[in-house]
Amino acid sequence: FLTALTRGPVSTAIRLTNLRKTFGDVVAVDDVDLEVADGEFLTLLGPSGSGKTTVLRMIAGFEAPTAGTIELAGVDVTQTPPYARDVNTVFQDYALFPHMDVLANVEYGLKVKKVPKAERTQRAQEALAAVRLEDYGARKPSQLSGGQRQRVALARALVNRPRVLLLDEPLGALDLKLREQMQVELKELQRAVGITFVFVTHDQEEALTMSDRIAVFDAGRIAQVGTPVEIYEHPKTPFVAGFVGVSNLLEAGAAATILGREGTWSVRPEKIRVMLGSPAPEAHERAAAGVIHEVVYVGMATRFIVDLDAGGSLIAVQQNTHATSDEVNSMRGQRVTLMWNTEHEVPVGP
Ligand code: ATP
Repeated sequence: FLTALTRGPVSTAIRLTNLRKTFGDVVAVDDVDLEVADGEFLTLLGPSGSGKTTVLRMIAGFEAPTAGTIELAGVDVTQTPPYARDVNTVFQDYALFPHMDVLANVEYGLKVKKVPKAERTQRAQEALAAVRLEDYGARKPSQLSGGQRQRVALARALVNRPRVLLLDEPLGALDLKLREQMQVELKELQRAVGITFVFVTHDQEEALTMSDRIAVFDAGRIAQVGTPVEIYEHPKTPFVAGFVGVSNLLEAGAAATILGREGTWSVRPEKIRVMLGSPAPEAHERAAAGVIHEVVYVGMATRFIVDLDAGGSLIAVQQNTHATSDEVNSMRGQRVTLMWNTEHEVPVGP
């Protein structure tokens, strides 16, 4: 079953060109261009109302674009109805039929397509095996945990062997622990079946954990597309720097004084070391003097908020390798020097 789904050489699964959607005066999606490769796990990440779901619904065909085109595997499907597109959607609420058992739920799509009984039972069993629920076919959805229901919803989509699977916040209803476990499982499953996944979430950690690439949405537009490392280490705008990870910016006067440069710069908190006193920086290092304004002990690490002499403040995160909570708490109000490698200052705007 798994190998049967593996596709040939890499090509473009989805191409969106100048895609736009307005609802009355509201511009939900504003001129989006995006290519998704065959077999890729691409995440649409952004705050509520930034247009992610609308893009997904247009790819599925549930919503017609105001302008622009959608291609699937090189074919323009902009005017094609949803049922004739080689895509399946998994929603957050799963929408399982409560009166049908798990096997019947998974078989349902094949039944509608008039696939013969023997074949559809076999395919449904294979899809359930792919999500490790082969022994649960006779249960009703109400007899399953949230994570198991989520896996049934996946099996129900996988059984159709779509070229593209669209997932709209599919883990949103799960508690944090289960959610983290399902993130890993879903990524492994995607790798095994080789189907192109387009995954919608507003959770930056989820996006960083699962994706081959992330498209960050800001007010209907894509602010940046890149691998998790590119997005996190080299955010291109203050919005991306703040939405993915903690916003830690040096602006205006602080940038001029500390970096000797104009513009807005981002330095990730875990790249910054907190040193007592005023040690001299090495050639490749930056030093910024300040006072510890707040100390937050978070178990594995401590977060320091430091008011800089040059203006503004920076957050630094240190692993609690040796320090105890009492020790770090006593640092509030102390004069310190923040140090980081110059390669970790990234320009994010003018
Ligand atoms: P969320 O994470 O909350 O689902 P989202 O990023 O998926 O948000 P969309 O649901 O795509 O955002 O909505 C984008 C914008 O379009 C929002 O301002 C929303 O209010 C608006 N919108 C979406 N659907 C409709 C509709 N059917 N009618 C009117 N406005 C809509």
